[in-house]
Amino acid sequence: MHLVLTQPILQRLRNELGEARRREIGGLLLGEHLEGETFRLAEVTIQRTGGSAVHFVRDPALNQEQLDEFFSRTGADYTRFNYLGEWHSHPSFEPLPSSTDINTMQSIVEDPAVGVNFLVLLLVRLTRWKQIKVSAMMFRANMQPEFVQVSTESDESDRKGWIAAKLLRIFSRR
Ligand SMILES: [Zn+2]
Repeated sequence: MHLVLTQPILQRLRNELGEARRREIGGLLLGEHLEGETFRLAEVTIQRTGGSAVHFVRDPALNQEQLDEFFSRTGADYTRFNYLGEWHSHPSFEPLPSSTDINTMQSIVEDPAVGVNFLVLLLVRLTRWKQIKVSAMMFRANMQPEFVQVSTESDESDRKGWIAAKLLRIFSRR
């Protein structure tokens, strides 16, 4: 799987992470299916409450409300625009999934009530130099999680201008 991040989303994350300082924040990943195994991050939602320096607790009611808003905004075109997963920040350590993160995501993807084929967890961290480091992992029922290839769309009008970004080291261009 390949996940494409856009500059406006990176900028938004950078601002939110800057304001949250040492508190974890997170939200939903809302994606646009481009082709095959390639998804672009269309939007992220932001949940600013529920996090401490070392963990983040999601708010299901807020998530559902924000998901419904996204579906109505995108015309309920679920094959193109859909829920991809979740993100949260790791201000106190590397943006890699903890064992709690992995267990939580795996239990969600294996819950028949949730009814998804896969989920992505994106972890983000703002460095001292205000750059964003990320990693993304994909979860499927009864399968080992896998790291997702992440890249940055450098110019929205030119998809060929994608920068081949290194896993864990996506530096935004501004
Ligand atoms: Zn975490």
